[in-house]
Amino acid sequence: AKEAGKNRYLPYQESMQHEIERKYMLENELRHALDRNELQLHYQPQFETATGSIRGFEALVRWIHPVMGAISPAEFIPIAEDSGLIVPIGRWVLREACLKNKQIQALYFPKSVMSVNISAVQLLSGGFTEMVAGVLHETGLSPASLEIELTESMPITSFDSAIPLLETLSGWGIKLSLDDFGTGYSSLSYLKRLPFHTLKIDKMFIQDIAKETGGSAITEALITLVHQLGMAVIAEGIENDEQLRCLKKWNCDCVQGYLLGRPVPFAEVPGLFQVKA
Ligand code: C2E
Ligand code: CA
Ligand code: CA
Ligand code: CA
Repeated sequence: AKEAGKNRYLPYQESMQHEIERKYMLENELRHALDRNELQLHYQPQFETATGSIRGFEALVRWIHPVMGAISPAEFIPIAEDSGLIVPIGRWVLREACLKNKQIQALYFPKSVMSVNISAVQLLSGGFTEMVAGVLHETGLSPASLEIELTESMPITSFDSAIPLLETLSGWGIKLSLDDFGTGYSSLSYLKRLPFHTLKIDKMFIQDIAKETGGSAITEALITLVHQLGMAVIAEGIENDEQLRCLKKWNCDCVQGYLLGRPVPFAEVPGLFQVKA
């Protein structure tokens, strides 16, 4: 329906109004997404750089709305965080990812590690560690086969309050990975005090590789530093051979990206383990 007073808005106010309306509408739809089975996980393979063999997968959530179609997690995860819906959605994601990893281990690859993205809001909502323990118990997945990815762009105050939780999870043998490394606020000396096992270098740095901007030197130095701090490095967003060649040369531990494998629905995971002729 057209609103009579629409012309009152200046263009930028109008687009802001649309944005607010879309957000409100998405939040309302997201409330039902779980019940209506509109959420799915896609799985992107991660590889050992040295051998080229699969290390495991990153679970990435997808929302397929019956009318609007696919809505990007970059759009709906922030809405889920603001509304608190991230708690039930995040629990579903974790449970589904652990269940599927259990199947991957039983059928194809016993050592598969499943990486799951966890929002700061979800981590700091009450009962997070108990929820994780419950999911591991229920699915029978070993803690060492689960990796939790936290983004470096979460506020440093959140990191401070998260330390005891991270220590608990790490104590159980769960792997902790710092996502989007290089985009956030943490200094290396701060990172050293956090119990992360792995750092994921943001794709921004990978895109700079082999450009004439000195980006390669920064990425190489980052990998060396992270190794000196006793952590492993995963590089994400690898799209071409030149990037892969450099990361091999610099002893980057693991690699992930469209060049090696896109995120795929679970039905396509078995194909990744079939020997290619
Ligand atoms: P992220 O955790 O940094 O995930 C990597 C994103 O890069 C994914 O986008 C992935 O599909 C994409 N990607 C993978 N390889 C390449 C590549 O070679 N080139 C490029 N350009 N991109 C690549 P996606 O799936 O759209 O997810 C966007 C973000 O949404 C994620 O960024 C993560 O922050 C968030 N997200 C996704 N799933 C979940 C979830 O289950 N829970 C939470 N809390 N956040 C999630
Ligand atoms: Ca991630
Ligand atoms: Ca990332
Ligand atoms: Ca991200």
